[in-house]
Amino acid sequence: MARDIGPKCRMCRREGIKLFLKGERCLTEKCAIERRAYPPGEHGRGRIKQSQYLLQLREKQKVRRYYGLLEKQFRTTYDRASRRSGNTGENLLRLLETRLDNVVYRLGFAGSRAQARQLVRHGHFQVNGRRVNIPSFGVRPDDVITLRAGSGAEALIRDATDLTASVAPWLQADHDGLTGKVLKWPAREEIDTPVQESLIVELYSK
Ligand code: SF4
Repeated sequence: MARDIGPKCRMCRREGIKLFLKGERCLTEKCAIERRAYPPGEHGRGRIKQSQYLLQLREKQKVRRYYGLLEKQFRTTYDRASRRSGNTGENLLRLLETRLDNVVYRLGFAGSRAQARQLVRHGHFQVNGRRVNIPSFGVRPDDVITLRAGSGAEALIRDATDLTASVAPWLQADHDGLTGKVLKWPAREEIDTPVQESLIVELYSK
């Protein structure tokens, strides 16, 4: 399973916002964005020449890192979004939001998307009663996500639910029974990812 193993806080500092890649640490004053809110590297505090291309590139990198995808995986998802009818940017966000690893995180069953991805990969979750260990698996309305019986990760997942302040409005979570349900496809206004998706469409349309 290919994934980005670079320093996570460096990614947040590069994008200039919290991407919440490290779970509980992101909620404390140890967060690198709180302590060093400027880009990493020797010239991090220098002046950067702005351009439309740079804006588009940073927006794409931000979303890719937010959801923990490599460039090739992200591009494949974009191509799928562009083949669907409707707004490509919204289609892209909807495809990213309905990935199983993101849904497990949004339900509050993991402290970060990286942890959610590992839990899925290790087969701790079932979708509609069937074990699914593919993080990119796309969930649909009425799908039910449950913890696999006998899973050794129950304590870890219960700890993660304690950190969860709210659950996305298109999902329903039962933190006692550790089950979740997809109520509907997420509408754009229900996706709180800090992105201007039109910039990504402009970048890939060149
Ligand atoms: Fe980003 Fe979390 Fe690191 Fe803060 S602690 S910089 S939000 S990964």
